Parts: sequence; structure tokens; C-alpha cells
Amino acid sequence: MNINTNYQNISDSYLFSTIAKKVNEFSKANPDKEIIKLGIGDVTLPLCKIVVKALKDASEEMGVKETFRGYGPEQGYDFLREKVQAYYKNHNVNLDIDEIFISDGAKSDLGNILDLFSTENTVLVPDPVYPVYVDTNTMAGRKIVYIDANAQNEFLPLPDESIKADIIYICSPNNPTGAVYNKEQLKKWVDYAIKNNAVILFDSAYECFITDKELPHSIYEIEGAKNCAIEFCSLSKMAGFTGTRCGYTIVPKDIENGLLNKMWLRRQTTKFNGVPYIIQRGAEAVFTLDGQKEIQENLNYYKENAKIISDTLKKHNIWHIGGKHSPYIWLKCPNNMTSWEFFDYLLENVQIVGTPGSGFGKNGEGYFRLTSFGSRENTIKACERLDKFLK
Ligand SMILES: *Cc1c(COP(=O)(O)O)cnc(C)c1O
Repeated sequence: MNINTNYQNISDSYLFSTIAKKVNEFSKANPDKEIIKLGIGDVTLPLCKIVVKALKDASEEMGVKETFRGYGPEQGYDFLREKVQAYYKNHNVNLDIDEIFISDGAKSDLGNILDLFSTENTVLVPDPVYPVYVDTNTMAGRKIVYIDANAQNEFLPLPDESIKADIIYICSPNNPTGAVYNKEQLKKWVDYAIKNNAVILFDSAYECFITDKELPHSIYEIEGAKNCAIEFCSLSKMAGFTGTRCGYTIVPKDIENGLLNKMWLRRQTTKFNGVPYIIQRGAEAVFTLDGQKEIQENLNYYKENAKIISDTLKKHNIWHIGGKHSPYIWLKCPNNMTSWEFFDYLLENVQIVGTPGSGFGKNGEGYFRLTSFGSRENTIKACERLDKFLK
């Protein structure tokens, strides 16, 4: 056999292992100092009560002969697809049930969708970027071109007619920067995609953090998007499903005369056997009125944390974006420090751990990501330390 040599081209991700190593070394040398982690990209609040009840009830059903379920539909049960359909309807997006595919999360689908596209395609990704987009395409051997997200364009790059690409990744609200595209900006991407016969892979994993009524939650709020965009969303950040696993992918029938929708169904029915019934019942509960109320409380908790961090940075004139419609705060390292210099500076002086921006691409150099997923207590404590130290 021959191995897939493209794997030799994936760069080893040293980002999180280097962070862990530095933190361990510091702890060993300073056992009396308490470290606060504001680098985590995982939620910390538990599942809401109504979800837990639905999971328990569904488990009971599975233990009774009359209500036991075996294989379900690969694309998800209709009870959940209808809830997703109604959720989109709230943003004035009309979807057919068979355009909605339930999955075990956005990350798997973002990688798996590439089965539908030729390896000859060129891929366009913004820099800095969520590493999954780059690594999955590198594994398949596709050519990747980058578009710069930087302070000049407020980390929201717009299409460049001189760049030709077939597959375009957009993540809004963005990880790692927290930047959000408005409707006019997204329209430019949709127009560009249609003109170039390209497909947009739109990652809306953080849409639930958007509070401004004018900002789009879904790319399908933009005219023409159903002709060129596939959307990926997840209950991970929305409802704390990072360990429970459930998401959904929208493949409109208007793209390529329904061909992509058909191909994705074929792909999923061949390579995937569906999300567990129990989990789908838990996900269904998220979309009920009570579920939405409960998850909103959790989202508000994270947003208040973000505000506390942002207010502290503002007070000390540290340039930053994000936090408002996202759990991420993206700041410019003060005094022209590099991302890693600032990492060491925070660890040594105030024992706060964040994520160096350079780990997300060359344009991340000199920037730093903090997250609002910590506890309120730790977030306040971290900000008090920063405030005192920066005086
Ligand atoms: C967390 C995250 C996801 C969600 O992934 P899941 O597999 O659904 O947990 C998707 N995209 C981005 C950019 C993320 O940060």
C-alpha cells in the first residue's frame, strides 16, 4: 500500500501543547501562584435542565421494548429537523426539511463536506483562521490560498477579484477574532461566489452570540446565498453540547440544481449512521421556548464575562475587537510585543493564560485571544490583576 503523503504537509499543531508546557513549567517553579485560564475554547456551564430531562426521558424510552429505537434516519429525525427549520424561520429564512442534515457536530461536517468537491479545487481561507479548514484541505491535497484579515479591514476581509478560488471559508462571528460580518459585507462574498462559480462554506457556530438585530445569523439572510452557500452550525457553543455532540448542516437544493444536496445525502447515508436518538431529543429541547430561555441565561453569563474583560482593556487603551457578539476577545499586544512575548508577560506577571494569535496564522502575530468561557469569579479576579498591574 501507499500512504496518503498529503499528511506529511500538515503542520504539527504545537500551539496548545506549547501553552500547556509553559504553564506546567511555571506552576512547578511557582507552586504558590494561582493561574487563571482565559484561553479555553470550550464552554464551562452545564447543560440546561430541560435538556437533561429530555436526555433522561429518551434514555428511559430506549429501555422499554415498545419505545426502543434502533437505526434512525442518517440525516436526523424529523422532530429535530422541524425545530431547526422553525429556528431559521425566526430569521426569515425558509428551508425545506430535506435541506437540513443533523450531524454529530460542525467539525466533522466541515471536514466531511470536502468529499463532494474535486481535489483540483483551490480553497480560500482567511488568515488568521480556525485550523480545521486548512488541515482538512491539506490532507486532501488541495491548493490553499489566503486572504489577509488584519487591523486595516477590521479582521473582516472582503473578496479580492484578483484571487481565484472555488471553495471559500467564512466564519462569522469569527473564531479567533470575534469579528462579525454585516449583511452588506456578506453580500459581497455571495456575489463574488456566484460570479466565480464558487461555493461558500459558512461556519455559523457562534451565531447565537449575536445580539445586534442588524447582523446576520445565517448567510441565507443574504439574497443569492442559497445558490452558492452551505452552512454549518452546532449546538456546542449555543447550548453546551461540546461533549454531547450535535450540530446541523444546511445544503440548499438551489446549488447546482440540487446535485450537492443529493450528493451530501448519499454521502451521509453511506458513511454516517446518524446522531443517537437520545442526543437528538436533548437537542430538540434546546429549541423549545424554555430551552431557548435557559440557554440565553448561559450565553448572557459568558457575554457579561466578555464585557468585564473588554472594559478592563478599554480602561488601559488596549486595542481589541470581539466579545460583543462572540465569546472571543482579540486584542493587540501592548508595546509591540509578539504574541508569545505577551503570553509569557501575562503568565509571569499576572498568571493569566490566553492564546497567542500567531497560532492561528501569520496575521495573528502581535495579537492575543482571551475567552469569556471562564467562571465569573475567575474572570473578575483576572481583570483585577490586569488592572492593578497595568497601572
Ligand atoms: C467550536 C467550533 C465549532 C463547533 O464544532 P463542533 O464540532 O460542533 O463542536 C465549529 N467551528 C468553529 C470555528 C468553532 O470554534
